[in-house]
Amino acid sequence: MADTLKFLLPEDRIPKAWYNVAADLPEPLSPVLHPGTGQPIGPDDLAPLFPMALIEQEVSQERWIEIPKPVRDVYRLWRPSPLYRARRLEAALDTPARIYYKYEGVSPSGSHKPNTSVAQAFYNREAGIKRITTETGAGQWGSALAFAGSLFDIEVKVFMVRVSYEQKPYRKALMEAYGAECIPSPSMETEAGRQILARDPETTGSLGMAISEAVELAATNDDTNYALGSVLNHVLLHQTVIGLEAMEQLEMAGDYPDVLVGCTGGGSNFAGMVLPFLGKKFREGTEVRVLATEPAACPTLTRGRYAYDFGDTGHLTPLMRMHTLGSNFVPPGFHAGGLRYHGMAPIVSHLQELGLLESRAYHQNPCFEAGILLARTEGILAAPEATHAVKGAVDEAVRCREEGVSETILFNLCGHGNFDMAAYSEYFSGNLDDRDYDPEALEAGLAGLPEMG
Ligand SMILES: *Cc1c(COP(=O)(O)O)cnc(C)c1O
Repeated sequence: MADTLKFLLPEDRIPKAWYNVAADLPEPLSPVLHPGTGQPIGPDDLAPLFPMALIEQEVSQERWIEIPKPVRDVYRLWRPSPLYRARRLEAALDTPARIYYKYEGVSPSGSHKPNTSVAQAFYNREAGIKRITTETGAGQWGSALAFAGSLFDIEVKVFMVRVSYEQKPYRKALMEAYGAECIPSPSMETEAGRQILARDPETTGSLGMAISEAVELAATNDDTNYALGSVLNHVLLHQTVIGLEAMEQLEMAGDYPDVLVGCTGGGSNFAGMVLPFLGKKFREGTEVRVLATEPAACPTLTRGRYAYDFGDTGHLTPLMRMHTLGSNFVPPGFHAGGLRYHGMAPIVSHLQELGLLESRAYHQNPCFEAGILLARTEGILAAPEATHAVKGAVDEAVRCREEGVSETILFNLCGHGNFDMAAYSEYFSGNLDDRDYDPEALEAGLAGLPEMG
């Protein structure tokens, strides 16, 4: 019965192509540079790390890129994801606004990340790759890639930021359930890890460090590639299924958003939702406001500098022009682990520079408070990262009440928080502090930006 329903309902409503915003940007992106020569990199520079199909997507100017059938077949397990009208949340806020949310927590690993991990595993499999290395912060990306690896018969090795490895043992168990290996980073398994530990044996780790370790293993082994869960153009591309579906679902409801809200770590779930709407704005002039929300403790868009920087601490990656806190910035260990990255997707950074998006930073207590309000009205317990989007949407709804305007708000509920109960317990016990970033650490991080000729 369930199978029949699945067969009858959603297949044709899964997008057949991803949307590539590069085709419609009012100004082109800045090139990615080789750290040695300072010149734009070519496909050969990336070939040790990624399959050619993904490298082509990274630089493609085609507006629509077909989603391969094996990828759509996996998407069918949870796509199209639901779009809800949050009527009880609206009532609780006494707002004239209409609030909708797209819920990506229905994926097998509980967040938006399988939208890209499945595609990346597929293209690596096609290229004959046996093993993929990666990093993970909160464990969401590691478990999403572990799931995808199990479907396409690829070994997955995950370097998990040490502070999260210790705080979130169940995410590691989930990766192992999918057959992946998960080790705390920095580790003694790589040159990059050994160097970091020699300098700072007590380090909590960071995404930048874990990326260095994963990239090093991939660059030095022929049968091994690297996969990144955010930031890069092809990752944002794969996430556009979120916005494409939401646009169609809202059309069925006879509505169109005035404002879009998403949280930003590396920018992929936010971009996945907003890029199709911005594309419509670029092509047809349909106005929409977009709001990115981030943690005050790692304020990449609101406090970072727009500059060329490395993606990792060990400086193994090419240089990307993006908002950055500096590749050596180690944010404090707050609970939205997926938002602890020093950089931001070049596409998202570029859009902010062009004045096409607004950004706002929040402390974690008000975000958890908004997450609790959502749980008590809509029933879903949001991931700590996603509570930043909930908080942004709640603030917009309150503004609508104060201004007496009835706008349509759409936010992306990018993951559930069922593995984050320790964070919620700490919130309930009043133990969470609302830390800002350390101004000295930020200054030091920015001082470490590479000099560009
Ligand atoms: C990874 C993750 C994020 C941050 O990554 P983006 O690339 O900015 O989307 C946010 N929320 C959840 C639930 C995540 O798993």
